[in-house]
Amino acid sequence: MRHFTTEVLIIGAGGAGMYAAIEASRQGAGDVLLLERSLIGRGGATVMAQMTVAAALEADDDWHFHYQDTLTAGRGLCDPALAALLCEVGVDVIREMEGWKVGWARDGNRLRAVQAPGHDRARCVYVDFLSTGPAVSRTLRTQLQRHERIRRLGDVVVTDLVTQEGHVTGAVGFDIASGTPVTIEAKATILATGGLTRLYRRNSASAHMSGDGFALALRAGAKLLGMEFVQFFPIGHLAPRMVGMDPIMWDPFRYKLGGRLLNGAKEEFIDRYGGTDEGRYTTTRDLATYAITQEVAAGRGSPAGGAWLSFRHVPQATLREAFGPVIDKLAANGIDLTRDDVEVAPIAHYHMGGVRVDTGMRTDVPGLFAAGEVVGGANGANRLSGNAITEALAFGKIAGAEAARAAPGPAFSPAAAAEALALVGAEGPARNTAALVVALQAAMADHAGPFRDAAGLARASAAIAAIRAEAGPLPPGAPGLPHDMVRLDWFDLRQMLLVADSIVAAALARTESRGAHQRIDHPETEEDWRVNLLLSGDERGLDITRIPVPEAA
Ligand SMILES: Cc1cc2nc3c(=O)[nH]c(=O)nc-3n(C[C@H](O)[C@H](O)[C@H](O)COP(=O)(O)OP(=O)(O)OC[C@H]3O[C@@H](n4cnc5c(N)ncnc54)[C@H](O)[C@@H]3O)c2cc1C
Repeated sequence: MRHFTTEVLIIGAGGAGMYAAIEASRQGAGDVLLLERSLIGRGGATVMAQMTVAAALEADDDWHFHYQDTLTAGRGLCDPALAALLCEVGVDVIREMEGWKVGWARDGNRLRAVQAPGHDRARCVYVDFLSTGPAVSRTLRTQLQRHERIRRLGDVVVTDLVTQEGHVTGAVGFDIASGTPVTIEAKATILATGGLTRLYRRNSASAHMSGDGFALALRAGAKLLGMEFVQFFPIGHLAPRMVGMDPIMWDPFRYKLGGRLLNGAKEEFIDRYGGTDEGRYTTTRDLATYAITQEVAAGRGSPAGGAWLSFRHVPQATLREAFGPVIDKLAANGIDLTRDDVEVAPIAHYHMGGVRVDTGMRTDVPGLFAAGEVVGGANGANRLSGNAITEALAFGKIAGAEAARAAPGPAFSPAAAAEALALVGAEGPARNTAALVVALQAAMADHAGPFRDAAGLARASAAIAAIRAEAGPLPPGAPGLPHDMVRLDWFDLRQMLLVADSIVAAALARTESRGAHQRIDHPETEEDWRVNLLLSGDERGLDITRIPVPEAA
């Protein structure tokens, strides 16, 4: 058993967690423990991101314009105060990253920016070539080392939070390399565990994005909102086989070069669905996902079941200039864009919903904060490109500052920690947990993907129940073994099943179509449904309440 005591515990070391740690330390937290199930700064989405970061940095821009675009994209469901923080604090954090030498691409004194879909002007900065996320992560890792009060603890997965008298007083889990149980006592705990897209068969996620934070929050008594809004990235790479490259790499080149999206008959089709690419490629993600899926359903898809993306109209020299060394990686994969179109299709990419927080990133449970993609509400029913990294950094900064100032709760109780640790020490019968994860991913993709109906969602619900029964109430095998991946998959599956429950329950309850949630049986957007669905409970039952969307101040 290993036990740690800290003032501020941060679970998850992506962009949000690392920024939170730095800010908590700057704001005077006595000590900060940054805990991560993978390696610090290398585990989740932040390090994988390759595209752009949105912030109103230039003189001809203003964070209020960015805010308006964010609200519009959110289809009426953004929490205006959170959206405003994303856009306003976003400017500060992106500038601070510049000061920390992240290396945003430049033209002389001006940062180079592209206009991504849904933004009214060019405000999405990046690090060439496809290096935005790695550069952001590297920069934050370097900054972490300047703070001696920040302890970094990798390879530890948190399985439960410790709650006492309605207050979070720490967390428990185990060390993956040794199997040793771990308990952590903390005055304030920040969930910075990222998204949930590993729940879907085709996704852009790392293996660490099982939605742990949503499940941890629910079981501790916090509330979730917007769980029905899973964002599908419309042009994830589908074919031909491509090794060593991010499946969502095509987007920035599409904006820069005007990549044409074509159906199986090589016709442009976005305008049939209300989109207006008109050479600027500004169709938002929900609409593009819808358009591609509808073309495939109508028998007009590409051979592998998606759409064609074509750069053949772009001269070779322009392609080389824009793609830089990426063109050689494509060549190594046998792809010559002057000759070949590639096939693309929607993949699960980001989650708009998540833990309900106030403007101090406080959840409904004292002692528990949240930051980054695990937070719900800022992006409403649909997120703008580039907003997620900005959200992670801005919300991380706020959460770190507020957690450093948090009032202490009840004294940590070893008995409460032992109770929370019960499953880590439990021993259950052998199970093929990896196969169960795959079964869950298939059920979610087939029945709770971007297009839903009541019958399909009922099938998803039944599949979740069957998989839960098959997984059983106890983790397979004996505790305390090193690198026990079968057992780790069971713990992941436990979180994934509860998160899947919450997506399906919210998707079933919302009988309209809006943003990333499209109900085939309720195709219209209804004004009555301009409300949020708030979830509480756990696997024994979820409560859903309709709550009004907060009004802008
Ligand atoms: C391939 C890809 C490309 C993207 N491109 C862009 C882009 O160009 N621009 C943009 O704005 N957004 C992009 N996004 C989205 C964006 O990267 C994320 O929303 C953002 O980085 C989330 O940051 P985060 O810190 O909240 O979470 P993450 O960076 O995902 O970090 C969460 C961390 O928590 C850890 N963790 C999770 N559960 C536990 C647990 N139980 N115990 C311990 N640790 C845990 C994970 O291992 C992970 O390291 C992209 C996402 C992906 C997947």
